[in-house]
Amino acid sequence: MLPTQQGCRQALAYPATMQDLIAKTGEPPRNKKPAEIAKADPRQRAWIEVNPTAVEANCRNLRRYLSESCALMAVVKADGYGHGAVTVAQASLLGGANSLGVATLQEGIELRQAGHKAPVLVLGNLTHAEDLRACLDWQLMPTLSSMREALLCQNLADGSGRKLSVQLKVDTGMSRLGCELKEAPRLVEAIGRLNQLDLKGIYSHLALADGDLQGEAALVTSQQQQSFERVLRALPAQKNGFCRHLANSAGTLRDRRLHYDMVRVGLALYGHSPNNHLHGKVDLKPALSVKARVTLIRDVPAGVGVSYGHRFTTQRPSRLAIVGIGYADGVSRSLSGRISAIADGQLLPQVGSITMDQLVLDATDHPEMEVGSIVTLLGQDGDAFITPQQWSDVSGSIPWEVLCSFKHRLPRIVI
Ligand SMILES: *Cc1c(COP(=O)(O)O)cnc(C)c1O
Repeated sequence: MLPTQQGCRQALAYPATMQDLIAKTGEPPRNKKPAEIAKADPRQRAWIEVNPTAVEANCRNLRRYLSESCALMAVVKADGYGHGAVTVAQASLLGGANSLGVATLQEGIELRQAGHKAPVLVLGNLTHAEDLRACLDWQLMPTLSSMREALLCQNLADGSGRKLSVQLKVDTGMSRLGCELKEAPRLVEAIGRLNQLDLKGIYSHLALADGDLQGEAALVTSQQQQSFERVLRALPAQKNGFCRHLANSAGTLRDRRLHYDMVRVGLALYGHSPNNHLHGKVDLKPALSVKARVTLIRDVPAGVGVSYGHRFTTQRPSRLAIVGIGYADGVSRSLSGRISAIADGQLLPQVGSITMDQLVLDATDHPEMEVGSIVTLLGQDGDAFITPQQWSDVSGSIPWEVLCSFKHRLPRIVI
């Protein structure tokens, strides 16, 4: 027998030993299923709190900032930037959003299954006839970037007795999705001749709208806008309700001339500005907090190395608070030793390497802290607050990625 097989044998024999153990000590208490335990109290270890009222208020404030004739699309892709797509879709629509944007077919179907009736635009590219067919069934609007997709749509809708609503995307300088600029007028005309398609709009996407208000970002944004307008001027006359749109959150906050018939807002909906200089244009309230509990308090002398690699050494007799959240929950290891957490309105430095499931706070100056105390990693507590921007400044990321990085190990609580 191979040594590895021998090893397996021994591993398999282990439960028998367990049985012996149980026989001697009695049945262990019958545990609940993990889901039931989480339902009993999802705030046992670490969790995300989502405040849909904040999303609703952000939408209302954005609405006020837009002209009457400009529609608001709430972009709820990537599970609503980690907030829960169905929750934020509902809050956005209550706050005055007119339609919803998703990246994938599955995200669109999830909204329909939850009962949302608002128009849904799929921003990503669907390449399979089957997926485009599902758009027809679920009344989702696909984005077309080429004639290939247009013909696929025409064929599958043919004979279904229904028209498929679509939008055309034009690349004005992002070099990602969208058709060639010079192809756009011809494509619009060709799609117009496909009797099973209903072209509802044309749009493009800005590459540098979150950059500075002067310099390269201003130049590129203005060039993209001019390209977009050139396409619009070359289009055959469109019926009423045809929707032209260009701006994401940054474009929306940056310049009203980028608004056209609709803006597609993601980040701002969740209460964050794409850039410091766009901060304050619209009153925005963060909708997500990340919280966790202290699971152990340790009083240690000066000169003790903390966590993997001993990247931190205590300089004084210290009180360490071990908190049950780590990079497997979405608190990136690249933040190690460079962030704080809030306890009772007080900022406490995080020390040493952030590990998979826990991190360590220096709670020496906060002696009231005890096992079970709640700390805020992201969000507000009293006058103190920590933003995704602060994290991303430290880790070299962006607020969008910070919000999307929280794993489903963290229960999401709607408050
Ligand atoms: C994600 C996305 C948006 C929203 O971007 P924010 O910067 O979060 O506002 C808008 N348009 C398209 C095409 C997108 O993919």
